Amino acid sequence: MDARFDVPEIDAFTRTYWDAAAEGRLLIRRCGACGRAHHYPREFCPHCWSEDVTWQDASGRATLYTWSAVHHNDLPPFAARTPYIAAVVDLAEGPRMSTEVVGEGQVQVQGLRAGLELEVTFREGVPVFRPKA
Ligand SMILES: [Zn+2]
Repeated sequence: MDARFDVPEIDAFTRTYWDAAAEGRLLIRRCGACGRAHHYPREFCPHCWSEDVTWQDASGRATLYTWSAVHHNDLPPFAARTPYIAAVVDLAEGPRMSTEVVGEGQVQVQGLRAGLELEVTFREGVPVFRPKA
């Protein structure tokens, strides 16, 4: 099997996250001490360092924060997908997440703007976002 660079290595801690993603659910981590959510998943709260952190289903809603069209990436499987849109989105629950914006066919970069409403979708078990219908 060819090496892939778009799927993180899964360990015992992140398995819960990736198992949920495979079922089409986006999970975030919520801190019981300060109440704030974070992403990517960590075993402690990055805001207050509490270990009282649990999994929670995210709404899947987000807004576009910043993005960039990637025209060259030699790492598989990205090379076959160029151009694609690498993006940072603000989840409705608060955390900021690095992801990709996809659409029907080729997403038009010209149609993207900061604050654009997005919703999560899954590609081969990896959460990505598309403009909200
Ligand atoms: Zn906290």
